[in-house]
Amino acid sequence: MLDADFFRRWMTTAAASVGREAERLTALDSAIGDADHGSNLQRGFTAVATALEKETPDTPGGVLILAGQQLISTVGGASGPLYGTLLRRTGKALGAAAEVGEGELATALRAGVDAVMTLGGAAPGDKTMIDALVPAVDALGTGFAAARAAAEEGAAATIPLRARKGRASYLGERSIGHQDPGATSSALLIAALAETAE
Ligand code: ADP
Ligand code: MG
Ligand code: MG
Repeated sequence: MLDADFFRRWMTTAAASVGREAERLTALDSAIGDADHGSNLQRGFTAVATALEKETPDTPGGVLILAGQQLISTVGGASGPLYGTLLRRTGKALGAAAEVGEGELATALRAGVDAVMTLGGAAPGDKTMIDALVPAVDALGTGFAAARAAAEEGAAATIPLRARKGRASYLGERSIGHQDPGATSSALLIAALAETAE
């Protein structure tokens, strides 16, 4: 079973990973966006880590809702409301349980990803974070390591795609040949989940 401490460690592991990879995320965003994805997420996840030091929600849902609120209130870019929605909606779906099973997390994360698709209007294949998140959720039933591998494959598979949502879509054909920054950061988020479960 996964308790609030597991979810807190997931978020702090993700914050550390985003900090390490911020330059790479920004470099990817400089190719097909406005070169701020790394700094956006670094600001957001620093706020998440700080909030989780001050407040210690005692349920998995509470941890994710607090984290999502921090991302929404501190990240100016498109990714803030989208990742904030992912975590808040997942947290809401987990409810008030003190511990949740892997199957419940998979179901809740599916609700979170669906909420991101509703908010942003992106579908799989549009070259967004959805291209890493949907395969990860599909694979989560098989285990955390499988979800991580699926997210990383999904992020890499955005390279030949033409962007249909977000800033990169303004580039049309010129968005082809570059890995999507948001799909890359989504793979980091799922990798952090797998690391936490190790
Ligand atoms: P901004 O584009 O506002 O500068 P970021 O650079 O932080 O925001 O995030 C860009 C990423 O957000 C993209 O690489 C893409 O994965 C994701 N994204 C943008 N728009 C959408 C959308 N409508 N639905 C899903 N993901 C999106
Ligand atoms: Mg950007
Ligand atoms: Mg921006």
